[in-house]
Amino acid sequence: MKKKETDNSLDKIISLCKRRGFVFPSSEIYDGFAAVYDFGPYGVELANNIKKEWWKAMTQLRDDIVGLDAAIFMSPKVWEASGHVKGFSDPLTECRKCHARSRLDALLEEAGVFADEKMTEEEINHIFDKNKEKIKCPACGASDFTPGRKFNLLVQSNLGNFTGDWIKEPTYLRGETCQGIYVNYKNVLDSARVRIPFGIAQIGKAFRNEITARQFIFRTREFEQMEMQYFIKPGDDKKYYDEWKEARWQFYLGLGINPDNLKWHKHENLVFYAKEAYDIEYRYPFGFRELEGVHARGDYDLTQHSKYSGQDLNYLDPATNEKFTPHIVETSAGVGRTFLAVLCEGYKEEELEGETRVVLKLLPKLAPIKIAVFPLLKNKSELVSKAREIFDKLKLTWRCEFDDNGNIGKRYRRQDEIGTPYCLTIDFDTLTNSEVTVRNRDTMQQERIKIIDLENFFRERL
Ligand code: ATP
Repeated sequence: MKKKETDNSLDKIISLCKRRGFVFPSSEIYDGFAAVYDFGPYGVELANNIKKEWWKAMTQLRDDIVGLDAAIFMSPKVWEASGHVKGFSDPLTECRKCHARSRLDALLEEAGVFADEKMTEEEINHIFDKNKEKIKCPACGASDFTPGRKFNLLVQSNLGNFTGDWIKEPTYLRGETCQGIYVNYKNVLDSARVRIPFGIAQIGKAFRNEITARQFIFRTREFEQMEMQYFIKPGDDKKYYDEWKEARWQFYLGLGINPDNLKWHKHENLVFYAKEAYDIEYRYPFGFRELEGVHARGDYDLTQHSKYSGQDLNYLDPATNEKFTPHIVETSAGVGRTFLAVLCEGYKEEELEGETRVVLKLLPKLAPIKIAVFPLLKNKSELVSKAREIFDKLKLTWRCEFDDNGNIGKRYRRQDEIGTPYCLTIDFDTLTNSEVTVRNRDTMQQERIKIIDLENFFRERL
C-alpha cells in the first residue's frame, strides 16, 4: 500500500460530510440558511462522542467539578451585566459598490495586515485607512468601503414579550453558555457541597450574529460550546491558569490530534472581561485558527452580576472566615470546531492498486460506528440470520451497524469513509466453524475470530 500525500482541503471534507451524512446545510430544500448546519446520522454520533469525552474529562474524572444545564433564555439583565449588550461586537464594513458586508478585521488579516476584532473602532479604522488599497471586497472585488463600525453579535428574540415592540425590549438567545454558570454559581454553591477551588461545566447551544460566516462549520451562527468555569481564590490565578492550559492541551492530544497541528496564541488585545487570554489553535485547511479559549476572567463576572442583581455573590471561606469574590479561570471550546479538527486530522487518502481509498482514521472512542456487521450475501437467509444474531449481541455494548447491501468491497469502503474501526463478516464457513472475519480499518488486515471470543476481542481494542 502506497501512502498518498494527504490532501486535507476543506472541499474534500465538506464533500465527505455531505456524502456520508455527517453534516448537511440547514434547510437545504429551501436553498439553505446561511451559516447554520445540521448534523446528520453519523455527525450526531461523532458530535456526541466528542461531548462525552469532554464531559468525562470535566466531571467524571474530577471530584472538584460539577455539571449544569442552564436554559438558553435568560433575563435580558444578564446580558447587560455581562457587558454583551454594549460590548459584544465585531467591526463591520460595507462595500459601497455591491453592499456586501464583511468583518473588517478578517479582511485586513486576509490581506496580511495585523488586526484584531477586539481593537477599538478608532484603532481598526486607523489601520484600515492606511491599507485601503490592499483590501478588496470578497463579493465584487471593489475597493470602496464604508468606515468600520462595531456590530453587536447578540441574537435577539421576542420571547415572553407580548407588546409587539420587542426591538426596544428584546430578550436574547445566549451568546455564550458561561453566563448560565455565573448566574447559578450561588445555587450550586448552596446545594452541591463544593468548596473553592471548584468548577462548573456545561455543554450547550450559543448564538451569534456572525457577520461573515464562511469556512463550513468553523464559524456558524448557531453552535455548541463546552465551557467550564473554575472558581478560585484571588491570587491563585496563575497557578490554576497554567494548570488548565496544560489540561486542555492534553485533552486534544487525547482526541488523537497531532501536536504539530496545535499551537498557543496569546491575545494582546484583551476582550472586556479578560485578564489573560490564550487560544489553542488548530491547523485547519485554511490555516491556524481558534479551537478553544482559555481565559483568566478575574472577578469581572461575579462582580458585575452582583452589582446588577443586588445579590451578594461573595464566598465565605469556611476555614478562615475570609470573604471574597472568587476569580474565574474559563476553558471554552466549540463542538463544531473540535468536530472539524477531528475530521481534518483523521481524513486520509491512500492509493490501493490504482484506486484511492478514503479513510477516516478516528480514534475508536470517537468513531460514530465501532463495529459493522456484514452477512457475506444478502439472499442467503442462514448467513443473514447468523449475522443478525451476532449484531444483536454486540449492539448491547457498542454502537454497531448492520449492512447487507452491495459487495463486501463496497461495504468496506463505506465504513472506511465513516471511520468504523472494525468490520465483521459472516460467511459460509462461519456456519460450520463458528468463526468470523474481522477486518481492521487502518491495516486492512483480516483475521478469523471465534464468535465466542468476539466480545473479549473488541473489549481489548475499543
Ligand atoms: P472567534 O475569534 O473565532 O470569533 P471567539 O474568540 O469569539 O472566536 P469565544 O467567544 O472565546 O470565541 O468562544 C469560545 C469558543 O466557542 C471558541 O473557541 C470556538 O470554539 C467556539 N465558537 C465561538 N464562536 C463560534 C462560531 N461562530 N461558530 C462555531 N464555534 C464558535
